Amino acid sequence: MLRLILASLLAAIAVPTLASDVQPLTIGNETIAPGTRADFRLNVPAFGEEPGTFIPVTVIHGKETGPVLAAVAGVHGYEFPPILAADRLADRIDPADLTGTVILVRIANIPSYEGKSPHLNPVDGKNLNRSFPGSRSGTSTERIADILSREVVARADFLLDLHCGDGAEYLEPFVGVYGGPLATNFQLALEVGKGFGFPNVVRYSMNTQAQVDTGRSLNRQGVASGIPTVLVEYGQNGRRDEEFVAGIVTGVENALSILGIWDEPRQNVPPVLRRFESTTAARASHSGLFYPAEPERRYWFKGDLIGTIRDYSGEEVEQIYSPIDGYALYGITGPPVREGWSVATIGNPIDGF
Ligand SMILES: [Zn+2]
Repeated sequence: MLRLILASLLAAIAVPTLASDVQPLTIGNETIAPGTRADFRLNVPAFGEEPGTFIPVTVIHGKETGPVLAAVAGVHGYEFPPILAADRLADRIDPADLTGTVILVRIANIPSYEGKSPHLNPVDGKNLNRSFPGSRSGTSTERIADILSREVVARADFLLDLHCGDGAEYLEPFVGVYGGPLATNFQLALEVGKGFGFPNVVRYSMNTQAQVDTGRSLNRQGVASGIPTVLVEYGQNGRRDEEFVAGIVTGVENALSILGIWDEPRQNVPPVLRRFESTTAARASHSGLFYPAEPERRYWFKGDLIGTIRDYSGEEVEQIYSPIDGYALYGITGPPVREGWSVATIGNPIDGF
């Protein structure tokens, strides 16, 4: 039964043809022949006073026609497990084994990575994950977003956006699956998301165009492009633990198997433990030093004390309480906190989807 369901879900994106029909893939200035791999840089031109940069990419183009999967690491350059996973995946996937194509963006945000800068591109101080679809004549971050939108997302049939907790940020492993009336093929995205074996799955239902457009993330660029999209989050606090890297690698490999791109059997992974419909933020109203009340706690009831903020003179100025009953998927470990930040982003529990 599952095979039948999957076959019908895949019918929308997989276009099986004779091997002789496979066309070279052109991306940026590169043309990749069927059955080969290419490692190259997408050029992000200089503009105005700002220097240019580049995006290192590996394309693995199969000998037979099939779906194109884009897996993007390093939208946040201080999130190392996805970057290490991409480096490992490039060596593990042989183009001779593929029915379809993998576009592996090794590090989307080189200025953030080389600047060792959490969340932001130090050239213009912007968050790439709020800057899509970007602009050719914009600032550094907007020009990176523009290249990713046109050269990567627009060529893909399925998008995996690989992240983790950034510096001074805890995170429980989860996949975010885009659904609702403005998203495409939620069921296929969910099947791929479950293949990661992470304990938590969040459905982000895209019900209004404003949700897709406001501070548009790479994920929402995938939604806007009409392709099934999964956000992958494993790792925390700027660390590079093997557990995080291996979890992402297994998940991407399972995604390739589920999508019919790779002929390797799907690897065994644990089932989903918790399901959520979007998230609710517990926000700070002050800047200063954040003191979590119980740093290891993840389950919260509405009204529980999550933490306190002391201002820069040492006076306690705020107590932050949980706005809902739920499970904290990620949050800040502190001490830095700024007015408006979410100190805990709490999944809204639901029974299933
Ligand atoms: Zn991130």
